[in-house]
Amino acid sequence: MRKKKAIALLLTAVITASAISACANPAASGEEAAVQTAESVEEAEKAPQERDTPAGEEDTSPGEGKQEAYLGIGTVGDKWYASSIAGVVSGETQVSLKDDYFTAINLDYFSDLTIKDGYSSAGVFQDADQIMTERTLELLKEENPKSHEGKLVSSLYELALDWEKRNEEGLNPVAGGAEKIRAIRRVEDLNAWETSESSVFSCRLASFQIENSMADSGNYTVEIYSTELFLEDPGEYFQQTEDGRRTEEYCKNVVCYMLDRLGYSREEADQVWSGCRAFEAELAEHMLTREELYSDDIYDKIINTCTLEELGEAQGNYPLVEVLKADGMDGSDTYNLTEPEWLSALGKLYTEEHVEDIKDYLLAHYVFKTARKTDRDAYDAVQGYRNERYGITGTLPEEEIGLAVVNSYLSRAMDYVYIDAYCTEEERQRVIDLIHDFASYYRKMLEQEDWLSENTKRLATEKLDNLAIRACYSDTREDYSGLIFASKAEGGTYIEALEAIHRHGLQLEQEKINQKVNPDLWLMSTREVNAYYSPPDNSINILCGTLVGAFSMDQSDEAVLATVGAQTIGHEITHAFDTNGAQFDKDGNYHDWWEEEDYEAFNERAGRLVEYMNQIIPCAELQPVNGEMQKTEMIADLGGMKAALMMAEDQEDFDYDTFFRAAARGWAMIETKNSLISQQQSDSHPLTNLRVNIPLQHSDEFMEEYDIQPGDGMYLAPEGRVNVW
Ligand SMILES: [Zn+2]
Repeated sequence: MRKKKAIALLLTAVITASAISACANPAASGEEAAVQTAESVEEAEKAPQERDTPAGEEDTSPGEGKQEAYLGIGTVGDKWYASSIAGVVSGETQVSLKDDYFTAINLDYFSDLTIKDGYSSAGVFQDADQIMTERTLELLKEENPKSHEGKLVSSLYELALDWEKRNEEGLNPVAGGAEKIRAIRRVEDLNAWETSESSVFSCRLASFQIENSMADSGNYTVEIYSTELFLEDPGEYFQQTEDGRRTEEYCKNVVCYMLDRLGYSREEADQVWSGCRAFEAELAEHMLTREELYSDDIYDKIINTCTLEELGEAQGNYPLVEVLKADGMDGSDTYNLTEPEWLSALGKLYTEEHVEDIKDYLLAHYVFKTARKTDRDAYDAVQGYRNERYGITGTLPEEEIGLAVVNSYLSRAMDYVYIDAYCTEEERQRVIDLIHDFASYYRKMLEQEDWLSENTKRLATEKLDNLAIRACYSDTREDYSGLIFASKAEGGTYIEALEAIHRHGLQLEQEKINQKVNPDLWLMSTREVNAYYSPPDNSINILCGTLVGAFSMDQSDEAVLATVGAQTIGHEITHAFDTNGAQFDKDGNYHDWWEEEDYEAFNERAGRLVEYMNQIIPCAELQPVNGEMQKTEMIADLGGMKAALMMAEDQEDFDYDTFFRAAARGWAMIETKNSLISQQQSDSHPLTNLRVNIPLQHSDEFMEEYDIQPGDGMYLAPEGRVNVW
């Protein structure tokens, strides 16, 4: 199910934080937080790709931890610990900073760190997230919120936690929909389902979203996404990994639980699952695999601009045009069909012969998506299965469950309340000034690249100069005045509120059709502990949530340069020039602006980095790193660090020790083993210890500061370094 999100991310933004990458806030182990655009496109219950979880018992024994210590990087040594896995290192672990800087610097911090109930990870990101959570909860609990947005979020929060009412309703809100699916007999019934009025419970074979066009930046287009599958990677349907097996088990458990509650026998539920599975496998054959998603020519594949008429010709038996009509999305001048092969396959499969399997698919996904919108028993059951899947224990505190709902459905409205309470123009200006300062060094860095021709250098610096810089908050706000729903005191219900929010969100989306993009409507909630680069508008966006705790602006200059500078601003700027970003021009259009020879040299450099990363085996139980999948993020980490060190060179009495320690602390995080395995397999962000140790290995200043010599675990000879920039 997350694949749609992965494509959406390719089409919109590159996100910094691994903990939160491509998916929700780590706190949101309940309802999933909407990372993407408007609440209207929120997807409620995706396959759980977030990280939550504390260590399972087997993870916590220090003895076992030692055996799981890093095998390290073949060419460098076997001296790095798998310290990102909860429980692998303890106070007794002996490690020298010359051998494994990340672990040595964070050892004391890790020794006292525990993963909280309902979470899969702990560390500086979660600490920052906790600060944001506490501040937001305080705002949500305000007795008489003044603003309209304040009233909306507080009402939704209260309704979400009104378990008495939700339990009274039980599964009633979803029983009708399930019954409708059950009654489907023929293709015309399927058509009626697919083209019925859009609702917060909608579950269809295709989905769409209004986005900035990659082919015509600055204008909105309607992106058409392929059918959501339970397994994130269509490749898993043919060659299943252990992680995929765990995901499948989790999804199946939730589906069977819900069907049981709806009166299906176990045998019937199993049949639904296998029909759904068979249909998904047929489609998966024609969908982009994870490997393809991370290949360099992915944009050639997913950018396919077309008209409604052309969609009509491509849709085969599937009524895509009518589905778009049902949601008022049929008036757009352009569409982007992200997976033409998928639509062609769906158009062929959508026949009387396959009605039963398609029904099973719809029913399974429908109950999976809606489970947590119903009563407490269903909520807890889903949590239990998630816990098994990710090794999580316990559940989130009640108030965080309510917050997760607000973050899922009204994140922007919540942002506005937060901004009014906490954000200042001074802080925003400070961050913007730092970005400008940083960008000027980045310019120097690009100018010094001796492998680039003058022409490519000129275009690269033009792209840098054209970078839109955004920090903390936007002055433009989405209009919530038209959104009204009854509060608990007024007799409202949770589902009524969700439906009202859905309709309002859909209306906001419809209003964007054929309009110019408003770049000030950010793609992510500013309360997220994160930042992003957005290729279609060539912008970097530094969010408020990433400026608290270890990434606060109120630290020494060196610490700010390491965390806010190298790891956030420099990292995001480099995304404009990673192997994906480099394919977009200064205006955000997918367009080749490189001299051919330069582009070849660039890709060769990226290839060396991939080879280097492919040698890393994080620990005995993990696969080697997938360098191809994680190269863009590592390019960004390396580039950010290099530019920051250039800046440091010009500062008097610069304290390198403080700088490097802050960099190590910037990614200090532990995760449960299951969660980490899942991340390593599906996330473009390398494990956090690699995000620290690898960039440092590439720095002369680091080698000098700590007198790192051949034989030390952190040593990397200059000729072995694989900086792309
Ligand atoms: Zn990134």
